[in-house]
Amino acid sequence: MQLRYGFRPYPNGRQCAALARAFGCARVVFNDALRVREDARAAGLPYVPTAELSKQLTAAKKTAERAWLGEVSAVVLQQSLRDLDTAYRNFFDGLKGKRPKMGAPRFKSRKDTRQSIRFTANAGWKITPGGKLRLPKIGDVSVKWSRTLPSTPSTVTVVKDSAGRYFASFVVETGPCEVLPETTPEIGIDLGLGHFAVLSDGEKINSPRFLRRAERKLKKAQRALSRKAKGSKNRDKARHRVARAHARVADARREFHHQLSTKLIRENQAIAVEDLAVKGLARTRLAKSVHDAGWSAFTAMLEYKATRYGRAFVRIGRFEPTSQVCSVCCVKDGPKPLHIREWTCGACGTVLDRDINAAVNVAKAAGLAVTACGAQVSPGLVPAQRGEAGTHRDGQPTVVGIPVL
Ligand SMILES: [Zn+2]
Repeated sequence: MQLRYGFRPYPNGRQCAALARAFGCARVVFNDALRVREDARAAGLPYVPTAELSKQLTAAKKTAERAWLGEVSAVVLQQSLRDLDTAYRNFFDGLKGKRPKMGAPRFKSRKDTRQSIRFTANAGWKITPGGKLRLPKIGDVSVKWSRTLPSTPSTVTVVKDSAGRYFASFVVETGPCEVLPETTPEIGIDLGLGHFAVLSDGEKINSPRFLRRAERKLKKAQRALSRKAKGSKNRDKARHRVARAHARVADARREFHHQLSTKLIRENQAIAVEDLAVKGLARTRLAKSVHDAGWSAFTAMLEYKATRYGRAFVRIGRFEPTSQVCSVCCVKDGPKPLHIREWTCGACGTVLDRDINAAVNVAKAAGLAVTACGAQVSPGLVPAQRGEAGTHRDGQPTVVGIPVL
């Protein structure tokens, strides 16, 4: 499978300037190509193929007003055209109903918070024997290598975020999987609002203090920003502080998701989660909470780690009435308003905690053998799919990142 590995490069002044040029050129190429396609569409002409855009790009480099595109690696510019193609494909697939609907590609602005360029294998980038990242027409950039890459990466994407930090993200082909020693527990997870997650064994997990602290600081920075006069120097400074606080929250959240997903994958053979229609929820009052919690990022992480480490991962449909059915006797006694956190089952008399009951139902719906609060094992189990027992790697899995889709 393909994984992304992220590191922090620290370009020097000259390299920062070269990167800024490359970001700018990639943006201009993207916008020029988008304009060609939009003009064609407005004139009722057919969709302009990528080969034609590529030809126009080559011609543009020979003109006086676009000659500076030659200062940047040609691969970076070609990748920018690819990005435009991807944006169009996603847009069209959304219209056809193949994926969630999204807007048409938009022009990129110099003020965009996140800028990126991508170097593929044929760009001639490499990691030097001295541990520098050699980027064509940019130079040998120092990188803090926080872990080792399992194999030679094919692609590197260099990103500058709104807080002014640089990231180098490598796509690496990893072996089929590194199966962890088999274990027996199987677990259902309810991603709720009161807690970040509730497990079918009764454990309730909240976001950690370091994340809550970062979130508080972000709120404070946002309030300070809203008080600053528009167009003032202080507002610029405040905006920068908000961007940095945002970045720290995102980092802290990712760190928490990694810790929790790794722990759940190590300790359980099979994991079931409710398939959250985040898009559906996002239109409701719960929206902010859904986005803040980053559940979809978390479940995606669980899923790829399950694949990688030979665990079973199941998503169950979102219409399963996890809060309506007693997880002990399976009697359905109807919906309950959100404020009811605990009730006594009318059929069997068990006192049920809303969140734990939901987590147990998730596990049962996925056909897992679950023990809730030491109470019950569901009858008629469907055996969960198991990975083959394999080699054991020492220590924590070191993988980070998101699967490449
Ligand atoms: Zn019951």
